[in-house]
Amino acid sequence: MSKSDILPCLPLRDIIIFPGMIVPLFVGRDKSIKSLNEVMKTNKKIILVTQKNAEIDDPTEEDLYSYGCESKILQLLKLPDGTVKVLVEGIDRVKILECFNDKDFLKTSTEIVKDKIDSKEDLLTFSIAIIRKLEKLTNLSKKISSELLITLKEQKNPTKIADHISGQLNISIFEKQKLLETIDLKVRLEKLMQHINNEISVIGVEKKIRGRVKNQMEKTQREYYLNEQMKAIQKELGEIEDGKDEIANLQKAIIKAKMPKEASTKCIAELKKLKSMSAMSAEATVIRNYLDWMIELPWHNKEKKLDAIDIKVAKNVLDKDHYGLNKVKERIIEYLAVQKRVGKIKGAILCLVGPPGVGKTSLGKSIAKSTGRKFVRISLGGIRDEAEIRGHRRTYIGSLPGKIIQQMKKAGTKNPLFLLDEIDKVGSDYRGDPSSALLEALDPEQNVAFNDHYLEVDYDLSDVMFVTTANTLNILPPLLDRLEVIRIPGYTEDEKVNIAKNYLIPKQIKDNGLKENEFNLSNDALTDVIRSYTKEAGVRNLEREISKLGRKTVKRILTNEEVNKEINSENLQDYLGVKKYKYGEIEEENKVGIVTGLAWTEYGGEILKIESATMPGKGKMQITGKLGDVMQESVKAAKSYVRSKSLEFGIIPPIFEKKDFHIHVPEGATPKDGPSAGIAMVTSIVSSITGIPVDRNVAMTGEVTLRGHVLPIGGLKEKLLAAHRAGITKVIIPEDNNKDLADIPKKILTDIKISTVKHVDEVLKIALTKELKPVEWIEVENINKSKSGEKVTAGSTH
Ligand code: ADP
Repeated sequence: MSKSDILPCLPLRDIIIFPGMIVPLFVGRDKSIKSLNEVMKTNKKIILVTQKNAEIDDPTEEDLYSYGCESKILQLLKLPDGTVKVLVEGIDRVKILECFNDKDFLKTSTEIVKDKIDSKEDLLTFSIAIIRKLEKLTNLSKKISSELLITLKEQKNPTKIADHISGQLNISIFEKQKLLETIDLKVRLEKLMQHINNEISVIGVEKKIRGRVKNQMEKTQREYYLNEQMKAIQKELGEIEDGKDEIANLQKAIIKAKMPKEASTKCIAELKKLKSMSAMSAEATVIRNYLDWMIELPWHNKEKKLDAIDIKVAKNVLDKDHYGLNKVKERIIEYLAVQKRVGKIKGAILCLVGPPGVGKTSLGKSIAKSTGRKFVRISLGGIRDEAEIRGHRRTYIGSLPGKIIQQMKKAGTKNPLFLLDEIDKVGSDYRGDPSSALLEALDPEQNVAFNDHYLEVDYDLSDVMFVTTANTLNILPPLLDRLEVIRIPGYTEDEKVNIAKNYLIPKQIKDNGLKENEFNLSNDALTDVIRSYTKEAGVRNLEREISKLGRKTVKRILTNEEVNKEINSENLQDYLGVKKYKYGEIEEENKVGIVTGLAWTEYGGEILKIESATMPGKGKMQITGKLGDVMQESVKAAKSYVRSKSLEFGIIPPIFEKKDFHIHVPEGATPKDGPSAGIAMVTSIVSSITGIPVDRNVAMTGEVTLRGHVLPIGGLKEKLLAAHRAGITKVIIPEDNNKDLADIPKKILTDIKISTVKHVDEVLKIALTKELKPVEWIEVENINKSKSGEKVTAGSTH
């Protein structure tokens, strides 16, 4: 250790200078600049010492470490802002002995400290080992320049090697200062080795962590990249919208749909679920479908309010669209008028009952038109599963709301006219009872909150105007209870002609692209179409046949056949083929045992032939023709009645034991039932036993009791229409049905002579062509003889 001179001192904030190091320093503090100026005047030597705390601006002896580096100023540059840049080179390690202020800057007296070296140790080899380690570190981190390594490798002095490395290491100021203060070279080299090893292992760990993070990142990046690519492909194919866009769009649509609170809360909750799901998952599809349904359902009215209906306009629309049906139209108008006044759809639901083709559906459409409502319909025919009305729960992908909600979506408004077709065909079985769901929809008390299984939230149907149709009144009682029945029994021939001329023909002319003068159908031909090509209460087949005529006419015109040809009775067959029905079902002559009955079916009234025959046997009775239970019973009752009155009818009782009876109702394919053929059965049996022929022009309907009283029947208008269609001129009806005659079209009442009867004897009087003669007396002997079949005194049995 040798003592040095007193030299100016430059305190350093954040760097430690080792001997051999050449570094530029920026000096800004006044005191420091002054000391530099001083140094420049002399031998340019200065002591560089580091402050213990870099923050202190005016350090004193205590604030400085006690070891520093005597250095030489190689270059000094005054910068325009008053600061100074100096290039210094460390020369010797010094220990500060004293530090004091002189002429406004710090001065120190120091002594140079030489390394303590144990000569036995091979420190050079140790230093080389350290250089190798450093090389490894350089390869790993690149923080140490490769030039340094080259210089180090050329260096043979361990002290210089140690100091050189110390200056370059990436360690704290504190650690570096410690290295500066370590005089024992071996210890210093060991510390260096330790620092380098530490650095290497830190870099190793860092690398590992980075590697792991990178792996993780790569995996997620790869997935992200693939997903993005897939989305891009799907977008290109138009399959899905951009995921984020989709959620945002759905959210907008939910707000725009202006749902009630309950529904929108539900939708937002579902949307949240959707957000957290993979866009391609099955659940996401289910939710997306659900939201689509909710968004597209109408939650508000778009059309007029009820009280805005103009009843006069409504009446005009109904009149314009339909011929006749005055009573029906009037009922509808009354119904609408009440709705207008009340301002609400309350009370019973209209139910149009009648055979097919009488205009029930088209009346429904007209009501919609006249009240400015959208028209939607569902057919209830054959619906047995409640889910068809109320929807399936959202448990599988294909589930859907029920038919009511489906049609509401189609309507696009909350107040359409909803036609429920064939309400009489709703059944119930193990799959649930659709009628209860229907009741809920139809009941104004409940339909404010209609519950569909799929939607899960209530839907308000109270603005919907429901109209129902049915072919029969066989409607489930709880449903029937809600309905206001309007019957449309069918049309007379005249009415059909009018409907055809004023509605069906103009419609078909238009539909087939014809001009008015191109379609000429003579009146006779039209009647022929009605009589020989259709047999129905309504006009559906008539419309079909007219459409066929229209089609053939277009073809004829376009193939340049006769252009303005009239379609008449002669050439009708060329268009429609051979006649389908024989007009007039009256027998050609009066026959024994054959009676014309009148029946009522879903398709309107029907003519029913009842035949009976007797043959030698043992009094057995055979009934054929697929008769229902009630009709079979009425045959038996009829026979019992005849038997009980046999003497009055001129029949000798033993005949019932000696003959077999066969009663047949032809056209076995059409099932027949009901008691209203009672009087016809009696007439047929009496005629076949007595051999008196029945008047072929007479048709009859009426139930009969065992005492022979005639009870009233239903569907009189339909039956009379059928009789009229068949060309019958006399009809026998129960007296109690007299009141129904008010409803019968005049044309029918003039064409048909109607006889009302109270007792079956009156029927026999009218229907049989000869009067019955009661058996006045019977000799006991004759009875015995007649038993053996030899001689009959009264009546004529064959
Ligand atoms: P339904 O529903 O009773 O089975 P539709 O309403 O389908 O019968 O009627 C069948 C066709 O007959 C429709 O084209 C309809 O316009 C027409 N039609 C029925 N009745 C009338 C009528 N009174 N006036 C005009 N056209 C009618």
